[in-house]
Amino acid sequence: MAYVDDIYDIVVKRNPGEKNFHQAVREVLTTLRPAVEANPAYQKAALLERMVEPDRVVIFRVPWVDDAGNVQVNRGFRVQFNNAIGPYKGGLRLHPTVSLDVVKFLGFEQVFKNSLTGLPIGGGKGGSDFDPKGKSDREVMAFCQSFMTELYKYVGADVDVPAGDIGVGAREIGFLYGQYKRLTGRYEGVLTGKGLSYGGSLARTEATGYGLVYLAEELMKDHGTSLEGKKVCVSGSGNVAIFAVQKAQQLGAKVLTMSDSNGSIYDPEGIDLDLVKEIKLVRRGRIKEYADVKTNAEYREGKRVWDIPCDVALPCATQNELDLEDAKNLQANGAYAVVEGANMPSTPEAIDLFNAAGILYVPGKASNAGGVATSALEMTQNSERLSWSFDEVDAKLHGIMKNIYASISATAKDYGQVDNFMMGANIAGFRKVADAMIAQGVV
Ligand code: NDP
Repeated sequence: MAYVDDIYDIVVKRNPGEKNFHQAVREVLTTLRPAVEANPAYQKAALLERMVEPDRVVIFRVPWVDDAGNVQVNRGFRVQFNNAIGPYKGGLRLHPTVSLDVVKFLGFEQVFKNSLTGLPIGGGKGGSDFDPKGKSDREVMAFCQSFMTELYKYVGADVDVPAGDIGVGAREIGFLYGQYKRLTGRYEGVLTGKGLSYGGSLARTEATGYGLVYLAEELMKDHGTSLEGKKVCVSGSGNVAIFAVQKAQQLGAKVLTMSDSNGSIYDPEGIDLDLVKEIKLVRRGRIKEYADVKTNAEYREGKRVWDIPCDVALPCATQNELDLEDAKNLQANGAYAVVEGANMPSTPEAIDLFNAAGILYVPGKASNAGGVATSALEMTQNSERLSWSFDEVDAKLHGIMKNIYASISATAKDYGQVDNFMMGANIAGFRKVADAMIAQGVV
């Protein structure tokens, strides 16, 4: 049996029940096959065995007191996956679905994504099954302080630098940073996504969504077209989705949909983003409220967005949110490209269908890398004790996304698989980490 197949079997046996982790590893291993088979040194160094095993996993109790005076207990996680090319870097997710399986899949993907940015950052991820939705600011602060009271032992500006993800935005990062500073007495760039008044970077909030659309535009241009005048479906209505919509609209696309975990909105006249921002960012409300104001728009309770005809699909909510049925809808409606804002939003069956149907497909580890890349730019500014202008950061982000597209496209071509961006991303991300690991010996 081939080396990559052996490794997949080992991962399944050693990590029983971790379905998301298995899925992420499988996707990477199957596309790495030609690169690994062409270089026997990788097998000799047991490189894949080492890459699928995190450097370490920390799991901890997070006790806090709610507004009614009751003690609540959540579970906290940090997976430090691989630091061959730089300190661990990756977000913290606060959502009831967070488990060891979920943080491992995200941490594994992060290793390749961070490598693709071209910046010196390793891969990690963390979070908790705490649900910030419906909690008061005081409850969120109590949770964040307790979470950091354990986490601070394992992180640091040159060790591991967490950031935001689902359920973690500026408010949560502020509470986490305050507690880190209090516990350690150190004022250092230990977290990214910080507020502008205490070391944050301009354009970090926008970076994942903007970067996604920069990459989508690059893809379109490379295929002789552009986003101008295209119909776009976006899922989610959080940080990534909102700024993806903003940039897509700036580039002349018409965005028709957004969603949250309760349902979706379809606005045939194009999404009114100011209204979405007011509902989501100011009031922390539900996307349903959009249709209360915009009576021409339709609210679709419990429905995803992928049955609405579009040219470009940008899934920006969560893992496995676009399945085979959704992919068939996109195909039937003549979709041209699917570019992922979320991590692993398309199921393997959906990806197979995109490939068979000739729908251009770019995996999140390439197309959503603008967020972590700009986090790395925030780290640089913190080290320099300087702040760059919005335009400076945005221009660097734009350049990084262009480079990522060029790299994944060229790598796919090198292996005779034109437009297989999943293979291009996995191999390009893998090579740099693999070479660093080999150079550093058996560690
Ligand atoms: P947010 O918490 O800001 O927003 C998440 C959005 O997705 C919300 O609209 C949320 O709806 C929806 N959502 C979450 N879980 C589900 C679910 N199970 N079913 C349906 N909808 C769901 O998170 P982000 O925008 O930061 O993250 C979105 C995705 O992008 C994630 O996959 C994340 O890992 C990825 N990502 C984020 C980066 C960043 O910089 N923030 C960087 C790279 C990737 P609801 O409000 O109802 O929960």
